[in-house]
Amino acid sequence: MENKYVCSVDIGGTKIATAIMEYPADGSVPHPVFEAEVPTEAQEGGEAVFQRIEASIKAALEANPDVEVLGVGIGAAGVVDPKTGAIAYANEIMPGWSGVQLGPRLREDLGLPVAVVGDVQAHALGEARWGVGKGKFSVLCLGIGTGIGGAYVENGRVMQGFHGAAGHMGHIECSAAAGIPCACGRSGHLESVASGTSIGRMYDERFGRVDPSRPSVGRDVNDLCRAGDAKATEVIHDAGFALGASLGSLANILDPEVIVLSGGVIHQGPDWRSQTWKDSVHEGYASQALDPLQDTPILIGSLEGDAPLIGAAEHLLASLK
Ligand SMILES: [Zn+2]
Repeated sequence: MENKYVCSVDIGGTKIATAIMEYPADGSVPHPVFEAEVPTEAQEGGEAVFQRIEASIKAALEANPDVEVLGVGIGAAGVVDPKTGAIAYANEIMPGWSGVQLGPRLREDLGLPVAVVGDVQAHALGEARWGVGKGKFSVLCLGIGTGIGGAYVENGRVMQGFHGAAGHMGHIECSAAAGIPCACGRSGHLESVASGTSIGRMYDERFGRVDPSRPSVGRDVNDLCRAGDAKATEVIHDAGFALGASLGSLANILDPEVIVLSGGVIHQGPDWRSQTWKDSVHEGYASQALDPLQDTPILIGSLEGDAPLIGAAEHLLASLK
């Protein structure tokens, strides 16, 4: 066995990260042997972003002339058409990104296999294959940051859905969010009560701002909660309970071997995950999960920033099988 290499790209609203990932012959965790990052400059439009991505990939390949990659794996913001790797839908954060024929054009231009998957799906695939979900048959992964997204991985394959839109787990009905407008334009969704952003907003609505000069963020409320403040503890409890209850409902549908939580809120440091929040997540989970699913482990992701790059590489490798 020799080392294998894949070019991985993680396309987000603010940056495009490109890496050459090495899969060591001894089977240990894949890691980048080359990494580069450029700003997405999303406001310049989809075509400009495409050109920047293609240039980044070519630069990565040219900087590593001794490495022969098996192909290019991409985790992309937006909804990715699972059949072609084109961008089927993107919101206003990336104007003109919707409709970009990302996979087809790169395949043609580079003459290499190219596989594209959603960025959240890539993250989940990374955690499932090489992170805390390694060796598990099925993994339900939720990323909790300014928003909430997720993906379900079974037997090494991520569920993309018919339109590529599977895993919008922040946008499921949640009783605690009834009547609260959601960023997606609907209302009553989990994201509106369990994301980092919503923790700050809920505190301000109930008790007024922590710092009168600006809206509160999740971190403000968590710090107060950890200091024993009863009002902040109430908000953190409600956010954790709502998340846990939704995890229970999702487990009833999918029955994952493990649930993995990651994302900005989870990885701001171990102190973010206050005991109140952890207990509330478990309390909410227990309130909804069916009896055989009560003991499903709820774990914290271990790969952090490398997860999307590893997951994108995994998606490429799966596409070659
Ligand atoms: Zn929504």
